[in-house]
Amino acid sequence: MLIPNTNYNQLKQSYLFHNIALKVNDFQSRHPDKKIYRLGIGDVSLPLCPCVCEQLHAAVEDQAHAETFHGYMPECGAPFLREAVAKHYKARGVNISDNEVYISSGASDELGDILDLFDKSSAALVIEPAYPAYVDANIIAGRKIVHLACGAYNSFLPEPGDADADLIYICSPNNPTGAVFDREKLAKWVRYANERGAVILFDAAYEAFIEDEALPHSIFEIEGARTCAIEICSLSKTAGFTGTRLGYTVIPKELERGGMNLGEMWVRNRTTKTNGVSYIIQKGAAAVFTEQGQKQIHQNINIYKQNAKVLTQVFDKLGIWYCGGSNAPYVWIQCPANMTSWEFFDYLLNEIQVIGTPGAGFGSCGEGYFRFSSFADTQDTEIAAQRIYQLLNK
Ligand SMILES: *Cc1c(COP(=O)(O)O)cnc(C)c1O
Repeated sequence: MLIPNTNYNQLKQSYLFHNIALKVNDFQSRHPDKKIYRLGIGDVSLPLCPCVCEQLHAAVEDQAHAETFHGYMPECGAPFLREAVAKHYKARGVNISDNEVYISSGASDELGDILDLFDKSSAALVIEPAYPAYVDANIIAGRKIVHLACGAYNSFLPEPGDADADLIYICSPNNPTGAVFDREKLAKWVRYANERGAVILFDAAYEAFIEDEALPHSIFEIEGARTCAIEICSLSKTAGFTGTRLGYTVIPKELERGGMNLGEMWVRNRTTKTNGVSYIIQKGAAAVFTEQGQKQIHQNINIYKQNAKVLTQVFDKLGIWYCGGSNAPYVWIQCPANMTSWEFFDYLLNEIQVIGTPGAGFGSCGEGYFRFSSFADTQDTEIAAQRIYQLLNK
């Protein structure tokens, strides 16, 4: 008889967003007239920028005529888009060649798929609190997970210490904490990975939110990273592609383990398991990397950042500890009055109808913390911030 992948039995049920929805629906049914301010979402709210839409329309038109029609696209990405991404890196002083860039249909897809490159016996290190997909993708693959807990004591930016792992997940700027590794701290992880022969999977989904010039957008800004890191990026949060789907991954030519070249293996993987990403979407994505595209996406990012600022100003006034907000779309606060993260959730919902995300949903060391997202509507964010101030300034 066929044996299913029993690793699925090891997955912990995630009740986070389900529980939030239950509580919110219950409240709304008891108070149908009350408006709810949703600052819990991890999805963007602003539409695609005009130059992306223009290219998407033009690409549909290309597909409508035999002379401009495209069939299968190259598995690792359209040359025009790989080139645009490589140029984008070069503009920031990072030398990446076109064929080190792999176009994907998103970072989540890639974070799971990339595990095909590594043996099951390798242990994966996850810095917690964390994006739940890191843990779950490795459980499904049957890999051992090393949990590295952090907290306010290290500003949610831990050092490698004596952690024992082969694959290392680093998400910077971080979801959920909004914390960002500086060059010095990131260099410690690069040194550690090179010494151990480990590989860092660097999730740069929020790099475009960095405003502090001194902070690295890419792990390849750190010396030595080309021999120990894979960078996974996405246009989801940077350009509103959550429903449109496009990402890119960088695997440097030098990256080898056990005499095998990971880039070459990935080419083989992609040519076997995908037939590339839609021509139309890749054309739209290429517009993001033009001068005009960069200007337009940053107009949207600045709106989210203004929302974050409205929140952090309130926490500054209240003297509440937080991180994130300035180089990331999330503000991660310490719950006031020693409340647990779910107690604080209920308190905000019942008293002022503001929704956030309880930190405990991102791993046990997230207990006592709470995430606010800046992706909500600006007016809603302003009203929510005012309500939080009035509620907690008692
Ligand atoms: C949103 C997000 C992504 C992006 O995922 P996509 O599949 O590209 O939409 C990746 N990593 C983290 C940590 C995220 O929060």
